[in-house]
Amino acid sequence: MIGRFKFEDQIFTGKITDGKVIVKQELYFDTYNLEDLQLLPPTIPSKIICVGLNYIDHAKELKMALPDHPIIFLKPPSSIIGDGDNIVYPPNSQVLDYEAELAVVISKRCKNVLAKKAKDVILGFTCFNDVTARDLQKIDNQWTRAKSFDTFAPIGPYIIEPDKINLGDAFIISRVNGKIRQNSNINNMIFEVPFLIEFISNIMTLEEGDIIATGTPAGVGPLHIGDIVEIEIQGIGILKNHVVG
Ligand code: MG
Repeated sequence: MIGRFKFEDQIFTGKITDGKVIVKQELYFDTYNLEDLQLLPPTIPSKIICVGLNYIDHAKELKMALPDHPIIFLKPPSSIIGDGDNIVYPPNSQVLDYEAELAVVISKRCKNVLAKKAKDVILGFTCFNDVTARDLQKIDNQWTRAKSFDTFAPIGPYIIEPDKINLGDAFIISRVNGKIRQNSNINNMIFEVPFLIEFISNIMTLEEGDIIATGTPAGVGPLHIGDIVEIEIQGIGILKNHVVG
């Protein structure tokens, strides 16, 4: 597990094992107790690339044909918050939706990566909530406004390395105030992670720390001020955020 933390005025990335955070320095390692550190979003990307309509169950729910290529859009890095941070309900929207998603974090600058080589550029996986102002998405032809408000990209809590997880049959769940709203499986994805990395890196250079949010399954729905929304992926953990006004 990899996390980003704050301790006093220092910000750093470390590996988590048995409640300890190991931080590599030039010639030695620092060790902290996990509970002494403030948790931050696990990556600060140059960009967040999101995939729309990438689950078979979600396409069926929307009565939409399966896409023949991934539909992608961007969220700005300024929308990122971490586990435990607040999602701020913008006053210009009346319909704020959660979207549970698997996020892929990129390990190094890369371009034109073949699907069969995709594992070489994956740092790991984490939970993502593609918070969306659904009313604004329907009004605008472009999705930028609906997807880009500050706090609309909760991510975390930690990054799980590819060799520590089997996503082949992992559940993906969202809960609002403890009630399950989305309950699907990563194997319902239409375009799988290696294909997405090939497709996206064919368009744009990916940088270390960049995030690919891989789309949401069926069951998206609204959030209200005061709600607690959780995204859980089997083998990764739970990303939990409050919605505030
Ligand atoms: Mg989405």
